[in-house]
Order: sequence, then C-alpha cells, then structure tokens
Amino acid sequence: MNNINFNISLPEDNCDYRIIYSHSPYGSYIHSDYFNRSIRLSINPELEWNETIWDQYSTRILSHELGHSRGAYDLYSVNVNGNKNEIFSGINYNYPIGSIMNYLYDLNTNFDEHSLYIINQYAGKIITPQMSSDMFWSLFPFKFGVQVKDMFNNPIENITVQFYGVRWLQESVNKNDKFERKTDNNGKVTFYGNDINNNPYERTGPTSLSTYSNFMIVIYNEVCI
Ligand SMILES: [Zn+2]
Repeated sequence: MNNINFNISLPEDNCDYRIIYSHSPYGSYIHSDYFNRSIRLSINPELEWNETIWDQYSTRILSHELGHSRGAYDLYSVNVNGNKNEIFSGINYNYPIGSIMNYLYDLNTNFDEHSLYIINQYAGKIITPQMSSDMFWSLFPFKFGVQVKDMFNNPIENITVQFYGVRWLQESVNKNDKFERKTDNNGKVTFYGNDINNNPYERTGPTSLSTYSNFMIVIYNEVCI
C-alpha cells in the first residue's frame, strides 16, 4: 500500500476515480479500493439473482463498493463464526446494525450512520493511506472499557480481564490473540481513544488501521472468599 504513488494521473482522462461495470458470462468478480481509486465489478446477475445488471442487487453491490471508495468499512468484518471461536466454541457474533456496508442483500437497509459519517467527512477528497488511518483512529470514543462487579454490584479490584482479538474479516477468535489487564480499584479496565498506542486494537504503523476489528472479553472467577 505504501508504494502507491498518489501523484500518478489516471490513464483514461483526468477523473479521480474509475468504475468498470461489466457483465460476466462466468462468476462474479467485484473489487474496490480507495488507494487504487477504482471499482471493478464483473457480474452475472441473470445467473445469480435472476435480474439485469441495472436491477436491485447489482446496483446495491455498486453502492457498497462506492461506499468503500469513500472510506466506509465492511461492517461484517467484526463478526465471529462460532466454529472458528477457540475460546467459546459455538458462540457467534454478528454486527447488529443493518446497512449496505454490512449485509447488502437485506433490501430493507440503506447506509448506516457510521458509514454515512465517514463518506460525508471525506466529501470530494481523494483518500490517502494517512487520511484513512487518521480517520479510523479518530472514530474511537474518548473513553471505553469494561467494569467488573460482584453479585452485590460492588466493583472487583485486581481481577484479570482477557481480551481476545478478532482479526478483520477472519471471523475467528484465536487463543494467541490475547491481551490481559487487571481491573483498577473501581473494577475497571479503561482505554482512551486518543491514546492509540496503548489500545488493545493495536496500531502497527503510522498509516495503519487496527490489527483487530473487535474483541471477545473473558473474565474468569478468580475471587476466593
Ligand atoms: Zn465490502
């Protein structure tokens, strides 16, 4: 990603983005990325959805890809498949808000608020990796974390909280992706959105997004009375 020269002008004309919208007699191939400034759709809608290339599923796919070209993320990249959950086998998680950027085949959904915010923030700008990274980390809340309490609603101090990272689009929870913290005297483990180097989502470079898209949080009963 870092070796792309953003000063290269696009070959066809002086447009900032390229959209290739084509019919394929074979399977469907869809790709978009903001750093190549291109959306490439090669689809066979008659075979897959019994519709033409200008009908609802085809245009919803194009809308999804246009969302990516304007910086919106795949919201389903935070999902967990219970068959790939090494900590609690069988436990799934699905991002709960309907959106074209989550599950575009749900015809009752449009763009969600989070994606619209990003799309509007970029407005007519050409997105660079630095802008994408800065936008990503700016979307974190100022403060977030967990609080552990006992059955009488009293905070539990000094208990270990384990965070198991979910890797983007992998749908898995792996034993090795573990991050541990102890609760403070209010039973809390707290992170700050503006302290991104001390954040379990993990930033690996100045223009990177997070290593993990989501977390499963585990608290074992360590309290002896
Ligand atoms: Zn996507």
